[in-house]
Amino acid sequence: MKKREIYCEQCVGLIKIREDLVVASFLYYVLPYHEHCYAKALKGFKTPFLSNQPINGKMANLVSVLVFFTSLFIILFMSDIILKITAAIMGVYTIGFRLISWFLYERHLEK
Ligand SMILES: [Zn+2]
Repeated sequence: MKKREIYCEQCVGLIKIREDLVVASFLYYVLPYHEHCYAKALKGFKTPFLSNQPINGKMANLVSVLVFFTSLFIILFMSDIILKITAAIMGVYTIGFRLISWFLYERHLEK
């Protein structure tokens, strides 16, 4: 499989290692940043639209697992249909962004 080069959305520089990558949602897009560029982007004009919670990283993995199991629990054991639909949407949204981040950016970078 051919590795793709990942460029930072803020400085347009090449991101070389996974540890330096921060993936964040911007409106409906999932965008890659260098760690330090993400901090700059958060302080700039993108702030109202840029997510302040990265999609990748250890905390994002933990949140994804928690959301997945919470959604699954609600869907299986709660009776309120609105709650089930909300849990399903939250689960798909969180897990979907996590998978998109891995598929588009993380898998192309070395650890
Ligand atoms: Zn950058």
